[in-house]
Amino acid sequence: MRWRWGIPFIVVLAMLLTILPVHAAVINEGGADPIWIAVNDELLTFPDAQPELHDGVTYAPVRFVAEAMHANLQWVPGTNITQVYKNGRHVTFDTPHSVVKTDDGTNHEVPLYIQNDRLMAPTRLLSEGLGYTVSYLESGPITRIKDSTAKRSDEELASIYQDRIDQEKAKWEEEHKPPQPPPVPEPPKPDKVVYLTFDDGPNEYTARILDTLKSAGVTATFFVLGPQIQSHQDLAKRMVEDGYSVGLHGMTHDSSKIYRSAQTVVNEMEDCNTILTNVTGLRSAIMRVPYGSKPWMPQNYRDATVNAGYHMWDWNVDSYDSKSATRTAQETYGEVTRQVPGKKEAVILMHDKKTTADALPNIIQWLKDNGYSFERIYGSTPPVNFWNDAR
Ligand SMILES: [Zn+2]
Repeated sequence: MRWRWGIPFIVVLAMLLTILPVHAAVINEGGADPIWIAVNDELLTFPDAQPELHDGVTYAPVRFVAEAMHANLQWVPGTNITQVYKNGRHVTFDTPHSVVKTDDGTNHEVPLYIQNDRLMAPTRLLSEGLGYTVSYLESGPITRIKDSTAKRSDEELASIYQDRIDQEKAKWEEEHKPPQPPPVPEPPKPDKVVYLTFDDGPNEYTARILDTLKSAGVTATFFVLGPQIQSHQDLAKRMVEDGYSVGLHGMTHDSSKIYRSAQTVVNEMEDCNTILTNVTGLRSAIMRVPYGSKPWMPQNYRDATVNAGYHMWDWNVDSYDSKSATRTAQETYGEVTRQVPGKKEAVILMHDKKTTADALPNIIQWLKDNGYSFERIYGSTPPVNFWNDAR
């Protein structure tokens, strides 16, 4: 059965392949290169539409090339057909059908197009159709159309017009330079950044902290404890929904339990993360260990938490807001505003507690007044920690 269908298919395919390239013949206007045209010993000048080289084919305004050859040109009335004739020879340009007819009876199917109201057609078809010979001079390049009246050799012609071509080419290149992409402005890099961080929540003071952050329009990072997430699930959800960063602070906050081994640290963070994910859907990649990482997190401990996928954060400004039970809001404010100046990147340690919530509006205002922009900590943020461990 196969051969009976195979032959007709091949015939149809061959027909398609014959037809398709004709209809697909389209001039790519962006892909043109400049070219110069000489008729006999004279390099032509074109007042508007300029000759172009498209994939090795020279296109030029038919009218001016015809005039230079002292040929006659006429429009066939009522059509888009142009005829050029000289010494009994004719070349017909059928623009609607993209066909050039020559006296030998050939219909040349080529793209024809209009530029600056000029009919643009392949120079070679026009010239050879009227009995001229055509040569292509690399230097220029020049398409040279000549008959027996030409006196100069191709080399002489190229050398005579070299300077003019160089000048015109420079001008052409200037006009056809690819547009320079506008310089991409560097996003203005804030020269001073602050990370507000709050540990040990969420708890009964967290809502007020969140309210203050929201009304001030600033962001922050919360290092949360697993059991606190369990008992204040709405607050944990609100942290995530309002776009704050949430990091892990472990489960027990008990140094005798957490730091028993590298694995116990990892376990605390993993357990905390599981609770966080169950409650909020978020899985965190940042952690802060209770009491700070020095001396608690030697190399092998850090290796273990890095291997578990965590970036470890400490701080470089300690608000001392949990230094004692009698710590006042004013003291917390004083500590922050004493330590922050001079720091390009301030990571402020605070806690979810009443006096801190009291001090927060003034702290934020002071940071704004001193040119700080507020960022939150992402997993991709280069970590600040006491070991200068950049992992
Ligand atoms: Zn803590």
